[in-house]
Amino acid sequence: MGNIYDIIIVGSGPAGMTAAIYAIRANMKVLLLDRLAPGGQMINTNEVENYTGTGKLSGAELAIKMFEHTQELGVEFDYKTVVNISNGGDLKTVTCEEEGTVYQAKAVILATGTVPRRLGVPGEEEWAANGISWCAICDGAQYRDKEVVVIGGGNSAVEESIYLAGICTKLTIVTMLDLTADPKACDQLRKMPNVTIYPYQEVLEFTGTDRLTGVRFKSTKEDATERYVTCDGVFEYIGFSASSQAFADLGILDRTGCIQTDARMCTSVPGIFGAGDITVKHLRQIITACSDGAVAANSAASYVESLK
Ligand SMILES: Cc1cc2nc3c(=O)[nH]c(=O)nc-3n(C[C@H](O)[C@H](O)[C@H](O)COP(=O)(O)OP(=O)(O)OC[C@H]3O[C@@H](n4cnc5c(N)ncnc54)[C@H](O)[C@@H]3O)c2cc1C
Repeated sequence: MGNIYDIIIVGSGPAGMTAAIYAIRANMKVLLLDRLAPGGQMINTNEVENYTGTGKLSGAELAIKMFEHTQELGVEFDYKTVVNISNGGDLKTVTCEEEGTVYQAKAVILATGTVPRRLGVPGEEEWAANGISWCAICDGAQYRDKEVVVIGGGNSAVEESIYLAGICTKLTIVTMLDLTADPKACDQLRKMPNVTIYPYQEVLEFTGTDRLTGVRFKSTKEDATERYVTCDGVFEYIGFSASSQAFADLGILDRTGCIQTDARMCTSVPGIFGAGDITVKHLRQIITACSDGAVAANSAASYVESLK
């Protein structure tokens, strides 16, 4: 088997690309893999306004800048879908879907991210990232003094609603159950004068012609009352799926499928590291993903050195 690297990085979002930059600058032989074009979720982001030092720019633009940075440093990139990672002690095996391609590395950094769950109702696809957002911290400022609907009632929905209600004129929460977040946060939200909560609802569709204009939903109780709320924007918080199926057997995931790491991004398996949204963490953002990637690469390089 000729393809032996010091460090293989799976996933080329901001976490993976930053890890690649730090790893190659630590004189490691690095391979960066992604099943899609480099950039991760940044590619689907209209505008990024909170990445330090860049001002406002499109997610795709930031993705290209990061990828060009990896290429200037000579990082090897390949389009591959990783389907399995096995821990062979000092040498890990990375198996890809494509014609059974197999690579080996002394260390592996897993930076495969998460995918926000979607409702799958009419209008959602049409207004995705153009009226419907999955990130209030990223897109909330566009709705200052406007009306928004938040879908969901868990911790993310409630925390982000408190933030949005502070800047929007009117906020409506539509949720499948009642609010299930931390009780103190729920109380704080319920007391906000511009907030209306509709529990036990099923979203039916997002409406609009030139732009998103409203949400239609109906009660899941016996009366099945239908309602329509007009709005300028929607934020969906109905959970996310961790892209971690390929390494489910390593015993490094929590019950939500995210990777448990320590502060140095080490997992419980020596030589396997996690970085970015796929790890158990509080704030999932580009800048925190980059930070994780830098720390993971530093730890992975130290680990590889320790094997010599
Ligand atoms: C709509 C939206 C808007 C956002 N806006 C902002 C914003 O304005 N500012 C901000 O800071 N954050 C924003 N975020 C959050 C930010 O995009 C993420 O926190 C960040 O991209 C996470 O980076 P990551 O590298 O951990 O993962 P990702 O960006 O998710 O990248 C993971 C990569 O891994 C690849 N991958 C997954 N599984 C495999 C596999 N088996 N084999 C090979 N490759 C694989 C994927 O194709 C993907 O390219 C937004 C998120 C969303 C959904």
